[in-house]
Amino acid sequence: MAQNATSASLQALTEWWEEMGVEIDHGELKHMSRTGAIMAASATPAASQSQAGQQIQTETVTRRRKVRPDWVSEARDLAAQAKDLPSLRQAIEEFEGSPLKALSNRAAVYDGIIGAPVMIIGEGPGEQEDLQGLPFVGKAGHLLDRMLAAIQLDRKTNTFITNVNFWRPPGNRNPDAEELAVCRPFLDRMIDLGRPALIVATGGVAAKALLNTRTGIMRLRGVQHTYQTPAGTQTELIAMFHPAYLLRRPQDKSLSWRDLLKIRSRLRDMEISL
Ligand code: URA
Repeated sequence: MAQNATSASLQALTEWWEEMGVEIDHGELKHMSRTGAIMAASATPAASQSQAGQQIQTETVTRRRKVRPDWVSEARDLAAQAKDLPSLRQAIEEFEGSPLKALSNRAAVYDGIIGAPVMIIGEGPGEQEDLQGLPFVGKAGHLLDRMLAAIQLDRKTNTFITNVNFWRPPGNRNPDAEELAVCRPFLDRMIDLGRPALIVATGGVAAKALLNTRTGIMRLRGVQHTYQTPAGTQTELIAMFHPAYLLRRPQDKSLSWRDLLKIRSRLRDMEISL
């Protein structure tokens, strides 16, 4: 009788917990009931019954059912609400959905000219970018500026610069799929609002993420691609080596020079004067 009462009240309690959103491990509950843990609770005086009850509670209530926000759709909504690039920047800076946000100093969103014909898209902030809140301002950024200057591009007159990820990953590791996914709606909106004539993806991480491929940068560079946002904006895309890679492998600068010439020639074909 006491055992039945305990089982009944335990059942009522677990039903109530479940309604409150607490996840119950029913297998464990059954196991405890079979092995006598619940009977032990029923056969003991009130004080130890409540101790046993607490034990059951801690052992059987494994974890609160988390209502995980869907950060990608939150990013999509916020991005769609941004009517111009400064408000998009603010939405990104206030966004809480990147797992990297808490690990970094600040977001590095974009730099350069809004509405420029060329949009450079890199991998994500490094140390200097994380401190200054701007993309490509460290060593690799200085090389990028020199490369762009060689074909009359620069962030003060005709180039817009951003990344596929806006927060610095610890130790400068590559951003993972989830980290990239929460940034993507913002990046797409940047393209929809900025309407560049040409996107230049610098490095394998950016090129692979944008083109949704596992093909490496060696095969992606030097070929014309098209990028289309979910809203339908279609933009020609050229991939080239990341400047940080060229700092490590200067012997590949000649290949990069070819890519730069290709960028210049495509801009001429599109009758974009620089
Ligand atoms: N590397 C990148 O890809 N982006 C930056 O902003 C800086 C370094």
